[in-house]
Amino acid sequence: MSSVLQIKNVTKRFGAATAVDSLSLDVGAGEFLAIMGSSGSGKSTLLRMIAGLEQPSEGDILLNDVSTRGLAAHERDTPMVWQSLALFPFLNVLENVEFGLKMRGVAPAERRKRAMTWLERLEIERFAKRAITELSGGQRQRVALARSLVTEPPVLLLDEPLSALDAHLTMRMQSVLSGLQRELGITFVYVTHSHSEAFSMSDRVVIMSEGRIQQIGTPRDLYLRPVSRFVAEFLGANNIFSGEVREDHQGEKVLTTEDGPIRLPERAYSRALGERIELVVSSDRLVLTDGEAPNRLSGRLIGEEFIGAGVNLFLETGSGREIIIQVPQRELNDLSLTPGRSLTVGWLPDDGHVIESDDRFRHVS
Ligand code: ADP
Ligand code: MG
Repeated sequence: MSSVLQIKNVTKRFGAATAVDSLSLDVGAGEFLAIMGSSGSGKSTLLRMIAGLEQPSEGDILLNDVSTRGLAAHERDTPMVWQSLALFPFLNVLENVEFGLKMRGVAPAERRKRAMTWLERLEIERFAKRAITELSGGQRQRVALARSLVTEPPVLLLDEPLSALDAHLTMRMQSVLSGLQRELGITFVYVTHSHSEAFSMSDRVVIMSEGRIQQIGTPRDLYLRPVSRFVAEFLGANNIFSGEVREDHQGEKVLTTEDGPIRLPERAYSRALGERIELVVSSDRLVLTDGEAPNRLSGRLIGEEFIGAGVNLFLETGSGREIIIQVPQRELNDLSLTPGRSLTVGWLPDDGHVIESDDRFRHVS
């Protein structure tokens, strides 16, 4: 895959504060890249630098292999869509969408035709003559998209574009966006705070913290193989066990924990005895069990949370640790969820994933 966007060692400082810290990233042509991270981690600053709304303090950003250094926002083909849409209130819908073409000197008949095509694609052609102020939030969002896409840019930057919409509209717009992205093959760089958006729509996800990339990978990679405790906790719904590597009496490598030994995945057998590590087990890898399981833990049921496809159960073990297990809907029927009852979870050692015990990430909860 060729890179449409290359971010090379980019740093952005505001006074003494570093918003983006020597960050490098390649985005492939046609890729849907999601960027997540806590508030203040530098996501918007990164997007604004790509758009040309801020200049990097150091480093360079290449668009189709050409440096963007010194190019103003209107001189590069990287429109940005964000929550506060910045549509022109004094222009109607069609005029807003035509704007970018007008700036490029496209003749009136031609730009009208192209703008109308985009209004149709986004199913808002009937609002062409309406004032922006007469539109709902979802309709405005579509106008903003049409306005950004009408110039057929190689990269579209989206900064939490759906965060102001209600749940129903968000779902609709998600499918509009992923449909468009697939159909047009435009590269999307999409900042979102929603796990479900990032994980359902994107090819790769970036997790940022303090101006740096903590991890980048496919949704599946990140979910199953977080590189650090920070990423594992950021993605939530993970069980993280800390302990020391030991050998049990059968010669198997185990992790000692306050709730007893846990067998390690075979991939982790190279770990030295006595090494301190952390083991992540995703909540959907645990099963409720009555009988034998290679790894087992028991706990009291202390809470439940309904999610679309089932329920997350929260257990508290003897040592006071909380375990999260995701139970599919179909298994709930024969299960009594009386608070305080004891349940046992089991999992396969190979479903565990070892991360380094790294104190750098400890301060983030
Ligand atoms: P995010 O979008 O991830 O929430 P931002 O990129 O908006 O984070 O901000 C990253 C850091 O840079 C924050 O500490 C923020 O306060 C700071 N920052 C962003 N823009 C400016 C600015 N124009 N002037 C000063 N500080 C800024
Ligand atoms: Mg932001």
